[in-house]
Amino acid sequence: MAEIMNKSSDTHRMEKIVSLCKRRGFIFQSSEIYGGLNGLWDYGSLGVELKRNLKNYWWRLMVHERDDVVGMDGSILMNRAVWKASGHEDTFTDPMIECMQCKRRYKADQISREVPYHATVNVIAKADDGSEHVIPLQVGGSSAEDVRQKARVQFRCVAPNATFVSMSVENAKKDTAATLCLFCGGDLSGARPFNLMFKTYVGATEDESSLTYLRPETAQAIFVQFKNVLEVSRKKLPFGIAQIGKAFRNEINPRNFTFRSREFEQMELEYFCRPEQGMKLLEYWKEERLKFYENIGIPPEKLHAREVPDEERAFYSKGTYDIEYDFPFGRQELEGVAYRTDYDLLQHQKASGKSLEYFDEETKQRFIPHVVEPSAGVDRTVLALICEAYAEDQAPDEKGKMGARVVLRFHPRMAPIKCAVFPLLKNKEPLVAKAKEIVELLRPHMYVFYDESGAIGRRYRRQDEIGTPFGVTVDFETLGEKDSSLLNTVTLRERDSMKQERVAIKDLVETLTPRIR
Ligand code: ATP
Repeated sequence: MAEIMNKSSDTHRMEKIVSLCKRRGFIFQSSEIYGGLNGLWDYGSLGVELKRNLKNYWWRLMVHERDDVVGMDGSILMNRAVWKASGHEDTFTDPMIECMQCKRRYKADQISREVPYHATVNVIAKADDGSEHVIPLQVGGSSAEDVRQKARVQFRCVAPNATFVSMSVENAKKDTAATLCLFCGGDLSGARPFNLMFKTYVGATEDESSLTYLRPETAQAIFVQFKNVLEVSRKKLPFGIAQIGKAFRNEINPRNFTFRSREFEQMELEYFCRPEQGMKLLEYWKEERLKFYENIGIPPEKLHAREVPDEERAFYSKGTYDIEYDFPFGRQELEGVAYRTDYDLLQHQKASGKSLEYFDEETKQRFIPHVVEPSAGVDRTVLALICEAYAEDQAPDEKGKMGARVVLRFHPRMAPIKCAVFPLLKNKEPLVAKAKEIVELLRPHMYVFYDESGAIGRRYRRQDEIGTPFGVTVDFETLGEKDSSLLNTVTLRERDSMKQERVAIKDLVETLTPRIR
């Protein structure tokens, strides 16, 4: 029961997060006015800032602050030969299961993971003429509570015009064999491979000769440009090439908001090394990457480095860690850190006939470098940041009365807006002028937001809800009206503690910049 309670409160939490994301402009459904397109999302004005802050911080740490890494930006479309050589054309598949009745498609592991329960749910519904009917449904789900929720969704689809009255659940039983459809209880087909790459055609003819794919990962551009980058950067092993960019996967079942999308961004580093350095560097990068997540505000107790067992690992990998985070919908992967040996470069060398060897001037050896790859998802990390930041607490309102507050406790480094500036009253010209002066003062150093409308308490709340860590208020004391020693000072309010301090305007940049970097 406790498990069910937790699960439903986590579901509830996720619903609140999704709704806040839309309400405040973090994330919208793509093409929403046309009914959306499954697995595709748009980032609004705050979402795009959060995403940029994350990518910029990754770039700063992985490229700018290191001597041994350079960046690149590859094209999304590449010669089809790349995908043949890398193995993606033949093997970038997920096992897919289809319902024989409603034709819904599932990823095979999703069925076995999510359907321990099956039940007959009898929904009592009222028709337009007031008569009541029993609608029997076959439903599968991850728990008894989940079965009830799914029954409601199914009911809406089979009887969109009827009014729900009540439901009773019969014959709930564990279905470890997982042989029935999650949605309609129909029989399922056996698993067959489904390639996740989106096909497209380059040029005016649409046939096999012009076929290629939208890249399902950014890494391959790095491997095929390895020689060019090596020659111009004149780096010695070990060294890395980093890239941030879009990737596309025709996921069978996109879900959990942006967690599994069909278009997403990756931040990938290919760190090339000598064969004997591979295992040690795998450990090194796992630790570095864990530190990265802590630095952006994910607490260590919610991060896990799972050692991927032999049977789950790609055959060419000698060791892989999945860095996982405890999302409200369960523990899930944020990033893979894999020691991929010399597999990728060797494949491309064989297929292209071009040497991708490295010449070591000291030992005079020529060999294919090995590679360790930390591969992170931008969208998944943004989602983790939002889930982690979301909190509800108590705060005083305009009249000093305590009330519920929704706050996004982003690390200031990640927060979309760093500082909000408020004149206490919008109809007092000297307050407004001073506040606008402060906006101009801060603008070269951070993203600031000016707001003059509504009671000051309400303005604070609006900023709390979008995670702005600092608020600056210009009041009559700023103008030196009550106490001349307070002339040109402002109130600086911190979002989480709600503590207020008096700071001189001339010290604001110096006070805030170290806290947001
Ligand atoms: P999963 O097992 O969850 O499908 P994966 O192991 O296939 O992920 P990788 O191929 O290792 O993922 O990709 C590296 C990273 O790219 C993942 O850790 C994740 O952050 C991100 N990623 C992969 N697929 C998706 C997706 N469909 N939506 C959003 N991010 C994704």
